[in-house]
Amino acid sequence: MTKYIGAHVSAAGGVAEAPVRAHAIGATAFALFTKNQRQWHAKPLTDEQIALFRQRCQELGYGPRQILPHDSYLINLGHPEEDKWRKSLDAFIDELSRCHQLGIRMLNFHPGSHLRQISESACLARIARAINMALEQVPEVIAVLENTAGQGSNVGWRFEQLAEIMQQVEQPERVGVCIDTCHAYAVGYDLRGDYEGVMRQLCDTVGQEKVLAFHVNDSKGALGSRLDRHHSLGEGQLGWEPFRQLMQDARWDGRPFILETIDPQRWPAEIAQLKQFMHNADKEEQA
Ligand SMILES: [Zn+2]
Ligand SMILES: [Zn+2]
Repeated sequence: MTKYIGAHVSAAGGVAEAPVRAHAIGATAFALFTKNQRQWHAKPLTDEQIALFRQRCQELGYGPRQILPHDSYLINLGHPEEDKWRKSLDAFIDELSRCHQLGIRMLNFHPGSHLRQISESACLARIARAINMALEQVPEVIAVLENTAGQGSNVGWRFEQLAEIMQQVEQPERVGVCIDTCHAYAVGYDLRGDYEGVMRQLCDTVGQEKVLAFHVNDSKGALGSRLDRHHSLGEGQLGWEPFRQLMQDARWDGRPFILETIDPQRWPAEIAQLKQFMHNADKEEQA
């Protein structure tokens, strides 16, 4: 049983620093921003940066299933206004191309928001249309929709909404989802009280093979609070048990599990504990 476990590490000093930081904390997977996540524009990656990133990922053993970048927070592919939707689409295409240049195969992003100007299903359709247009521009990279905490007018907090977007994507092999445990719990999926029930719902709506990654975060907010407040593993409302179940769940083998927890000092210990859960499952299997 193999799962890849890591954290969203800083790319300060250049993208090629991210795999080095991931390696230093014992991570077998990592996330990063390939540009400043709070700005629309970024300088193109240089050939040197690209070559160094690829070289380090190879040396440190990070393959395509182990790297899950996150796009800019400014992008809203569901934007109701045409010019702003277009601006988001252009930025999303740029994010996808940066991934492609770096040899990265997945890009994680929050689906979008309707801003109370259009219906939920119209918003989901706009997101799907943006994904379709972007995938035509950039080859290979898979668009990975993250479930949200449902704050404001964000869509994509219910598994059905993620499925509705995916159904409208013209290259189905190039779309999937990433499940953030904090967000899921915050909108009412009770991973603590009914792990198996939530996972069955996920497989029934989205499909097991479409779940490509997880963000592993404990939650400060209560079940159904709709608060996007991450906590260190074991310290929040979820506690350790759902994370043990996740690590011992063979359905999710081969996926990256990315910490976005609030205290980077704890990442090495959190990663070690998750690995321990995974190895315990292996031992039980062999016994
Ligand atoms: Zn997340
Ligand atoms: Zn979050």
